[in-house]
Amino acid sequence: MGAIAIRNVIKRYGRGPKALQVIHGVSADIADGEFIVIVGPSGCGKSTLLRMVAGLEEISEGEISIGPRVVNDVEPAERDIAMVFQNYALYPHMSVYDNMAYGLKIARVPKAEIDTRVQKAAKILELSALLERTPRQLSGGQRQRVAMGRAIVRQPQAFLFDEPLSNLDAKLRAQTRLEIQKLHHELGVTSLFVTHDQVEAMTLAQRMIVMNAGRIEQIGTPEVVYSKPASTFVAGFIGAPP
Ligand code: ADP
Ligand code: MG
Repeated sequence: MGAIAIRNVIKRYGRGPKALQVIHGVSADIADGEFIVIVGPSGCGKSTLLRMVAGLEEISEGEISIGPRVVNDVEPAERDIAMVFQNYALYPHMSVYDNMAYGLKIARVPKAEIDTRVQKAAKILELSALLERTPRQLSGGQRQRVAMGRAIVRQPQAFLFDEPLSNLDAKLRAQTRLEIQKLHHELGVTSLFVTHDQVEAMTLAQRMIVMNAGRIEQIGTPEVVYSKPASTFVAGFIGAPP
């Protein structure tokens, strides 16, 4: 269902002789239900790759599939994926319940089905007691959980995260990391999580994709990448202190 295949993908920004190639032929197979972390230094192309999966950037060459479908020409809204922390802003005058239900109402999902999905998401995210509150009556962590709830109720085939923790203080970062792990444990939805933080990658990943300068250096479990780095780059990047 939610497997993702990336085949010989190239990305150029701009056209003609001034075009800048930033992804140089990348391939990866992500299994349905896997939690994959894409890790690498700033500017190596992580966000570009994720945004091509999401449909927010055009794919210059190659192919990306989500489930059985090649999605190169599929609009972002039709790709059945959720960027969890994008457009994180909640509707300030709507209740937590309505914030989570809004997208489904627009999509004309029947009311009873909406209720089932919102209650289920609220239970997972421990928001059941807060459904009548408005965002301003919530803590920062609770607001973030509502934003996750909005993504969950859509029942996407994959969650995409682009450095969702990097602007949080240490306590909220640790808390949110646990939430994300719990979410994956409970729902088993294919997840692509981008970070430049080696420790975060090692903690969260089932397998990690280590990128450098628009290329994949290694794909493997944290254990294998750590103990058998495929290149001096990987050895230095994963071995070096954060
Ligand atoms: P990362 O997320 O790993 O930090 P990015 O994918 O954001 O890396 O960027 C990869 C490269 O592409 C960088 O050299 C960056 O400057 C360049 N880049 C990113 N977005 C654009 C854009 N819209 N136009 C031109 N160059 C871009
Ligand atoms: Mg980025």
